Amino acid sequence: YQAKKQGHQLAFYSPGMEQQRLQRLSLESRFYHALECEEFQLHYQPIWEIDSGRLVGVEALLRWTDAVGNRISPGEFIPIAEDLRLMGSLGDWVLKTAARQLVDWRARGITLSMAVNLSVSQLQGRQAAEHIRDQVVANGTQPEWWHLELTEETLMHEPEEVEEAMNVLSDWGFHLALDDFGRGYSSLARLQSMPLDILKIDKLFVDRLDGDSAGEPIVQAILDLARHLSIHVVAEGIETIAQRDRLWALGCHWGQGFLVSGARPADEIEQMIETEQTS
Ligand code: C2E
Ligand code: MG
Ligand code: MG
Ligand code: MG
Repeated sequence: YQAKKQGHQLAFYSPGMEQQRLQRLSLESRFYHALECEEFQLHYQPIWEIDSGRLVGVEALLRWTDAVGNRISPGEFIPIAEDLRLMGSLGDWVLKTAARQLVDWRARGITLSMAVNLSVSQLQGRQAAEHIRDQVVANGTQPEWWHLELTEETLMHEPEEVEEAMNVLSDWGFHLALDDFGRGYSSLARLQSMPLDILKIDKLFVDRLDGDSAGEPIVQAILDLARHLSIHVVAEGIETIAQRDRLWALGCHWGQGFLVSGARPADEIEQMIETEQTS
């Protein structure tokens, strides 16, 4: 496993590696325990219209707090879940939980869209797509309410299979979003051939909009490209007013980031909406 991860390098034994291996083992067994003991939770991060500040949707983000109160970040446990081939079941749980939340919100007149992150194992071919649709529909939601996020990295795994899944999901009315855009290596040709509705500009570029605004040309280029392809753009990781204002000036209409809010439990999102409606 180590050797595989390190590409062409030889995996020499070192005390540091041994420690890494032990850490991973412990994380693995805690992960199985977490699945059984329902230690996972979904939090929701607002996506807003930059102009008005109005909430238009949320992104569901997995949270894991173990029995003794440690929080493990998805960046740590998702790669392990994928390796253990458990991302399928965890992904199903995410879809089901998010669907129930959507139904609950709709019943109360809250019409936010729901973005969920999909991993490569959930996007392999038509069957995988049917599985997603079946769950979404069985839980009382409609494809149009969903934004399915995938990364450039996911696209690089078995591209034909993933593209097949994307095509049918898009035909059924799901919105598709390319996450972390600019971090990976999507070819522009591919961007045009895929049924994408949304590009999410990676935080990396939003960060560079602070200070001397060295990041502007890239963000401008992404926005121009998206406009020509009729794709909407959401900027990720907006933390400052300066970033927000630059994004708006460059023509970006939607944003997500700590400036407004990080991922929060559902009831806190409801409170935000109430405050929005009364002000
Ligand atoms: P992502 O889909 O790109 O999600 C955005 C990440 O950026 C989240 O990290 C969010 O908390 C963080 N973020 C948002 N705004 C800001 C900001 O203003 N500043 C900073 N510093 N960070 C911000 P998180 O929750 O740790 O998730 C990391 C990644 O884990 C996600 O990146 C996504 O790729 C993956 N992930 C999370 N939940 C799921 C899931 O249910 N399924 C799958 N397959 N992947 C998931
Ligand atoms: Mg995402
Ligand atoms: Mg992202
Ligand atoms: Mg990211």
